[in-house]
Amino acid sequence: MTEERTIFHKIRDKELPATIVFEDDDVLACKDIHPKAPLHLLFIPKHFVSSIADVTPETAHLPGMLILKAQRYAKEKGISGYKLTFHVGKGGGQEVPYLHLHLLSEQAL
Ligand code: 5GP
Repeated sequence: MTEERTIFHKIRDKELPATIVFEDDDVLACKDIHPKAPLHLLFIPKHFVSSIADVTPETAHLPGMLILKAQRYAKEKGISGYKLTFHVGKGGGQEVPYLHLHLLSEQAL
C-alpha cells in the first residue's frame, strides 16, 4: 500500500515551498503558515510516522528527537519560554497526518 502524501511529505521533499529555519539528516523545521503565536514552528521528522498514536517501539525515538532539536534550536536563538505540543488525531486537533511538534513562543525571532 502506498503512503498517503501529506503537505509535510511535500515540504520535506521540497515540492512545496516553506520557510525552513532548520534542517539536518533527520529533521526539518519550518514556520507554520498560520501562526498561532509570534513564533510558531513545526518540527517534522524526515522518517514518516502519521501520529504519536502510531508510534511503535521502532519509532518511539522520533518524538524525543523532535523535542531535542526544538530545545537546541530555542537555546541557540535565545528563546527562553515556549510551548511544545503534539496534536493527536482529529479529536486532538491534528489536521495533518504526519508526526510533527509545534513550538510556540511569545518571543518572536
Ligand atoms: P496540526 O493541526 O496537524 O497539529 O498542525 C498542522 C499545522 O500545519 C497547522 O498549524 C497549520 O497551520 C500548518 N499548515 C497547514 N498547511 C501548511 C502549509 O502549507 N505550510 C506550512 N508551513 N504550514 C502549514
